[in-house]
Amino acid sequence: MLNKRPNTLILIGLTASLGLSSCGGGSSSNNTTNDNNTTDSETQTIDSAASICNGQNNFENIPSAYVTALTKYTTTNSQYLVNVCTQDINSDGSADFIVVESTNLPEHESVYYETGHQHQEDFDFETNIHKFSPVYDGSQTAHSAGSNMIEEQAIIMKMPIAPASATIKTATTFATIGIALNGVSFFNENAAPGDNITDELFTFDQCSGHPQNTGIYHYHVDPVCLIRDLGGSIIDQANTEGDSVYTWIEDSGNNAGLLMGFLMDGFPVYGPVGSSETDCNSAAVPSIDSYNGHSHCTGDFSTAIYHYHLKTANIGGTDSSVFWITNQFYYGEPGEVSTN
Ligand SMILES: [Zn+2]
Ligand SMILES: [Zn+2]
Repeated sequence: MLNKRPNTLILIGLTASLGLSSCGGGSSSNNTTNDNNTTDSETQTIDSAASICNGQNNFENIPSAYVTALTKYTTTNSQYLVNVCTQDINSDGSADFIVVESTNLPEHESVYYETGHQHQEDFDFETNIHKFSPVYDGSQTAHSAGSNMIEEQAIIMKMPIAPASATIKTATTFATIGIALNGVSFFNENAAPGDNITDELFTFDQCSGHPQNTGIYHYHVDPVCLIRDLGGSIIDQANTEGDSVYTWIEDSGNNAGLLMGFLMDGFPVYGPVGSSETDCNSAAVPSIDSYNGHSHCTGDFSTAIYHYHLKTANIGGTDSSVFWITNQFYYGEPGEVSTN
């Protein structure tokens, strides 16, 4: 008896949602970020008066070597806004910054999306004890990141138009230090003072990200769902404990050639250091320096460019298999990031 009514309701709900152009998802907030570019006559833009791109991609003044890589910002997240343009701050006719603007909303599932959101998906945090077992020492508890939930942002990242090695290296901060190709913030390998990243790992969602207290969703480590969505290679993992089976996806170790985004200093971030990275001509590559990077040509840059790789570190034990995005410092001079 109880079955009939819910079925009817589901059908009504389905009809109603089919009536929407794309992804209503029950979200009551700003639909400008959800609509499909091709059918929307009004311009999508981030919710900030400081917007530089104003809802447009403009590659006119982007250095040609960067076009292939930066174009991936405009194609990776088809649901939420990510724009690329340039800024000429002194109006001398030449661009000073490459600008990436983002609403910082992931295209993939997360337990940290509000109930009813199209990408909300439950997650058993106990899974993290298995997923991050090399770091687990029995002291951590697997739980959600308090009441923090994913919220739409207006992130403006400015990268130097001609990135170069900095003479004096600048330390990364406990905030957005770069933007992944899907528009999600990169954070460094530390938690904000007072917290330990080796505890925070256990608050990560199924895609290895979590939101901080103003709802900025971010990655500190290997973003497995982004790797999957970029066409990288992932593997399924499972552990059985008693009657429970925990499953997750993991990087296969073969994604060193996969572009993942940029840090604020204008240098690209590539996938985790693998066993057999080669350059764009299949030649051997230099070893990785203390900033987690090195120079060689890649599939996105036909001449050698400095780039970071996600890399393990002596955090949570020397055998840790956790791949972090940074190692303390920017290699180049960082530009600026504003978040609202
Ligand atoms: Zn964090
Ligand atoms: Zn490399």
